[in-house]
Amino acid sequence: MDQHDRTRHYIGGQWVQPSGTDRIAVVNPATEQVIGHVPAGTVDDVDRAVTAARNAFDPGVSMAERRDRVARLVAALEPRLPDIATTIGQEIGAPLKVQRGVQTAVPMAIASSYRDLLEETNFEEQVGNSLVIREPYGVVGAITPWNYPLYQVVAKVMPAVAAGCTVVLKPSEVAPLSVYQFVEAAHEAGLPPGVLNLVTGYGPEVGEAVAGHPGVDLVSFTGSTATGRRVASIAADTIKKVCLELGGKSANIILDDADLNTAVKVGVGNAFLNSGQTCAAWTRMLVPESRYDEALLLARQAAQRYTVGDPFDPATRLGPLASQTQQARVRGYIERAVADGARLVTGGPEPARERGYFIAPTVLADVHSDSELAQQEVFGPVLAVMSYRDDDEALRIANDTMYGLSGAIWSADHRRAIALARRIQTGQLDINGAAYNPRAPFGGYKKSGIGRELGRAGLEEYLQTKSVQLPDSVISQQG
Ligand code: NAD
Repeated sequence: MDQHDRTRHYIGGQWVQPSGTDRIAVVNPATEQVIGHVPAGTVDDVDRAVTAARNAFDPGVSMAERRDRVARLVAALEPRLPDIATTIGQEIGAPLKVQRGVQTAVPMAIASSYRDLLEETNFEEQVGNSLVIREPYGVVGAITPWNYPLYQVVAKVMPAVAAGCTVVLKPSEVAPLSVYQFVEAAHEAGLPPGVLNLVTGYGPEVGEAVAGHPGVDLVSFTGSTATGRRVASIAADTIKKVCLELGGKSANIILDDADLNTAVKVGVGNAFLNSGQTCAAWTRMLVPESRYDEALLLARQAAQRYTVGDPFDPATRLGPLASQTQQARVRGYIERAVADGARLVTGGPEPARERGYFIAPTVLADVHSDSELAQQEVFGPVLAVMSYRDDDEALRIANDTMYGLSGAIWSADHRRAIALARRIQTGQLDINGAAYNPRAPFGGYKKSGIGRELGRAGLEEYLQTKSVQLPDSVISQQG
């Protein structure tokens, strides 16, 4: 048995045998070795999990109970973070700093934020003669991708549990091993049986069964726009609520009065974070024409400082892509961009190492806004640097994709930056490299999604509203 062999699903508070015998191999993308297996779940497994979640769902669950569940989850998760970080390093090839930071410390901050938010959230208010009550939505189907395996799960499970919902979780088949460690923490935390259930498997089988199940009230999906469209269409048959966190092609707008050196350096770092497999990555850098050559030079220097290698070597800043499929996709994008007239400033489509699914940090110049590279999400360490003539053109280019997830603005004048931020069709923007806020709502405009995650807005997705109109006699009694 290898280190990470997992043979069971987690349903109704127990580790249970899957209904079938098929398994999915999990591959370490840096070594190309199989490091574990998980069950390939079936429609029957999903049905059992939904039944357990339905049985566990109590629409009247008390605030004290919800607070207790969230606090227990947070407490059980914290000591497991180092092990989870290592597993994420093995299953997607994230380098040490990424494992410990954005892959685990950030989700821990998000989990804690829900514990704190519950202390200060009022789920009832009086509006005129109505008592407006916010109740848990019901059984949640959570479908997550591989790029930030713990973060994605925490961003759905924590607010769902905080709201009083119960959950059937279907993680990505590419990186399910760290999710098992999260679920072990939940089991150890003593969550009531059925509040959290795990069924692993492939999207077309398990994911579609979750999205289509009549016992699921809300499906929260994070993944590609194409899959999100499929999930939403399946969910439509049973009129369930759908939350979608999809792709992005975010713009990093560097204005003419910005500190170019810092803006380019931070911008390159953002684009290459997690080998560029970040939906919110600033993958288009927009630079004033007058400073274009200078910016390209700085971007090349910054990119070349990204040491590619073994994710567990402390010197490594860029690990592999998470899978061979992903590597092949990214190579294709770079090759087609060059064929399309883009100029390779550094990097390129050739695998950066003989073994493992590596791609060198790649910067492309002279990328036109209507080209594939400027329009499509690459999900690799590939930055497109584009020039603009004035602020209006920068704005036009920034808004010129089907996506609207994230972005950045750099300027010496914060009023100018905020004024521009208001005109960009995107769900989140950072000005001058501002600090990460785990309570800031995150989600997409346009085809980047529907709904928000994190913070209070993230919690509200898992609540539904009931209005109870009170007769005058009751109102007057309340004084
Ligand atoms: P994906 O869409 O292939 O898969 C996401 C999840 O959906 C996986 O669990 C997968 O098994 C499942 N799935 C696949 N086909 C399905 C189907 N027919 N029905 C139901 N479920 C199905 O995405 P991925 O390759 O895992 O992740 C990369 C994509 O996710 C990128 O496009 C990225 O932008 C996006 N993403 C978005 C966000 C965000 O918050 N907006 C965050 C991370 C990733």
